[in-house]
Amino acid sequence: MEMPVPNAAVLSRKAEIVARLQTVLPQGAVIHQPRETHAYECDALTAYRCPPLAVVLPSSTEEVSAVLNICHDMGVPVVPRGSGTSLAGGALPTEDSVVLGVARLNDVLETDYDNRFIRVQSGRTNLSVSGAVEENAFFYAPDPSSQLACAIAGNIAMNSGGAHCLKYGVTTNNLLGVTLVLMDGTVIEIGGAHLDAGGLDLLGLICGSEGQLGVVTEATLRILHKPEGARPVLMGFDRNEVAGACVSDIIKAGVLPVAIEFMDRPCIRACEAHAGAGCPDCEALLIVEVEGSEAEIVHQLGLIMEIARNHNPVELRESKSEEESARIWLGRKAAFGAMGRINDYMCLDGVIPVSELAFVLRRIGEMSGEYGLDVANVFHAGDGNLHPLILFDANKPGDLETCEAFGADILKLCVEVGGCLTGEHGVGVEKRDLMLTQFSPADLEAQLRVKDVFDPDWLLNPAKVFPLRETATRRGEAA
Ligand SMILES: Cc1cc2nc3c(=O)[nH]c(=O)nc-3n(C[C@H](O)[C@H](O)[C@H](O)COP(=O)(O)OP(=O)(O)OC[C@H]3O[C@@H](n4cnc5c(N)ncnc54)[C@H](O)[C@@H]3O)c2cc1C
Repeated sequence: MEMPVPNAAVLSRKAEIVARLQTVLPQGAVIHQPRETHAYECDALTAYRCPPLAVVLPSSTEEVSAVLNICHDMGVPVVPRGSGTSLAGGALPTEDSVVLGVARLNDVLETDYDNRFIRVQSGRTNLSVSGAVEENAFFYAPDPSSQLACAIAGNIAMNSGGAHCLKYGVTTNNLLGVTLVLMDGTVIEIGGAHLDAGGLDLLGLICGSEGQLGVVTEATLRILHKPEGARPVLMGFDRNEVAGACVSDIIKAGVLPVAIEFMDRPCIRACEAHAGAGCPDCEALLIVEVEGSEAEIVHQLGLIMEIARNHNPVELRESKSEEESARIWLGRKAAFGAMGRINDYMCLDGVIPVSELAFVLRRIGEMSGEYGLDVANVFHAGDGNLHPLILFDANKPGDLETCEAFGADILKLCVEVGGCLTGEHGVGVEKRDLMLTQFSPADLEAQLRVKDVFDPDWLLNPAKVFPLRETATRRGEAA
């Protein structure tokens, strides 16, 4: 994977840059010793690493503004970072960059149950947002599997989703406003504690912009009443195609489960060995969850189980208790950790029309044979968001490159069948060079012009999202 040549002039001024940053931040908030910056050299896409020039950990919007002002003044690239759980290399530093981590910005600023919103600093973890309102029977809906660790900042930058987003939508559907610091240190407010703001929909632009346009320091989020109850049903099938057809039929029937999750046999076996959640040993497994009052749950599950029975499931198990529900979910939630025990893996993220599920899974299986690398599938089936996990050996020369080529082919296949390069993990460095398979040069140019407006010097989050070759001229001119 190619990265731009670091700016030698910036590297040579490291001591001066660090000294200036230390003037606007408290002691301990500027990290610059190589043994300490090591911890920030990658995110969850650990195949790619690069220690940054320095790391700053501001505690307020004012401190973020002061840092950006200095970096802008000195021409230093800045990589915004939440918790570093990106699977697309979105928070990967460059050698000449300052990583701006928002982990210390983690306060709740305001909670308003009457108007159903919470305002938090952006470094607060996703799960702790729900934690802050659960006593009052509210919750924050987007639930990435990484929610214990990932920050609202990263969720906004990647427009993250999760198992329950089939019903509640992804981050953009639950975000009301942000405080954004521009690269020159200017602080702006976008949106607010209301459903729709006047003016252009800049909030829609910021959500999913992967740290390219500014640094989010505060966010106003929609919170919802907790449903009265929820219940999953576990379904096993002897063929992926049949499970895929069952998903299509559930969606077609007009029932709206909160989640439809899919795991294939390699994934089921790995999860069982790791978590022992009692999943059946079958070809494909679905977890379908519904929510509501007892009457609503019984009605919806009745319809869903009838559809499933038409597909001759080898297992159909409705949860009978809280403990059983937790066990059903345990297998799915353990998936990434379970695969990590077996081998190094790269987790892909593409979207396909649900109707293409069976075809795409079959093609991925064939490609696995062609590339000689195993693949396991676990994904949000209801919205067609695939997560093939390609297993490789990082210590075996050439394996990473083979894995990259295999991954690229899977993502191209997603686009070919009418889907999209990314569902929820973002583009980062991982899919950067595939952008032209999804967008025409004119489409991409429109996006580049937005970047030009917000970050004319091209200092924010370098080498992500846009193909290097297409942006070389812009970056060169800016430098
Ligand atoms: C085990 C595991 C499971 C996962 N499951 C899911 C899942 O179910 N759904 C899902 O969507 N994702 C999932 N992810 C991916 C990841 O957790 C999400 O992308 C998450 O939103 C990243 O948040 P973060 O705080 O760790 O951000 P980081 O990794 O630190 O950064 C991600 C991006 O956000 C930008 N950024 C960070 N802070 C700011 C800021 N303050 N202002 C502007 N830009 C900023 C960064 O520059 C980078 O481009 C998973 C990851 C792991 C490791």
